[in-house]
Amino acid sequence: MKKTTTLFEDGDHRWIVVARDPERPDHLIDTNEYLITSAGEGLLTDPGGMEIFPAVFSAISAVFDPEKIRTLFASHQDPDIISSLALWLDFNPSLHCYLSWLWDSFVPHFGGNEDTFRPIPDEGMAIPLGELTLQAVPAHYLHSSGNFHLYDGKARILFSGDIGAAMIPHEEDYLFVTDFDRHIRYMEGFHRRWMGSNEAKRDWCERASRMPIDMLCPQHGAIFQGADVERFIHWLDELKVGSGIRG
Ligand code: FE
Repeated sequence: MKKTTTLFEDGDHRWIVVARDPERPDHLIDTNEYLITSAGEGLLTDPGGMEIFPAVFSAISAVFDPEKIRTLFASHQDPDIISSLALWLDFNPSLHCYLSWLWDSFVPHFGGNEDTFRPIPDEGMAIPLGELTLQAVPAHYLHSSGNFHLYDGKARILFSGDIGAAMIPHEEDYLFVTDFDRHIRYMEGFHRRWMGSNEAKRDWCERASRMPIDMLCPQHGAIFQGADVERFIHWLDELKVGSGIRG
């Protein structure tokens, strides 16, 4: 398998999208991993599953020294998010992993010890990276009961985990949303089925609409930019989700 990288930079502050693998077998859901770097330090958000670790590791190695990744961030507990943990820790046992306090005794079943985890309280917390301060933003029940997004206020990017996710067919593997209305067909069923609470969704939409966001970067599918960010928040706000609704 072979992942590709897309790089954005503003001086030594860089954000790298690790996405799209034409060799990925169909039985693995496609995922996007994001590396943020500042002052030579890296944080990898939603590092991915163990099956794709070699592809993610080699894609990152082509653009950034993986030894300088000091921190992992897991938006929630799913295997496609963080089951690569033990492999990352084999490479660098001193890595720290930020995740919801709710999962800090479950995710250690994937690996790590008492020094590995940095539990995030429900209200969120600041996460230092080089010269930046990132923010863990609450997104509970969207879809996991202990769920966080990661906000880079300098780049105005919200790394939004499963919110904004889309199942794009192989033949249309676009990385950026360019036709929002057409993109809806690839995300509507997913959000209806996986997002468990209309109240939590409303709360998140209110929070997100108050934040300056230039890019909304989900863990599956395509990235929203500019006016499509607000368009997405409005679309999600109107969508009826929750238990018992099938996609
Ligand atoms: Fe998930």
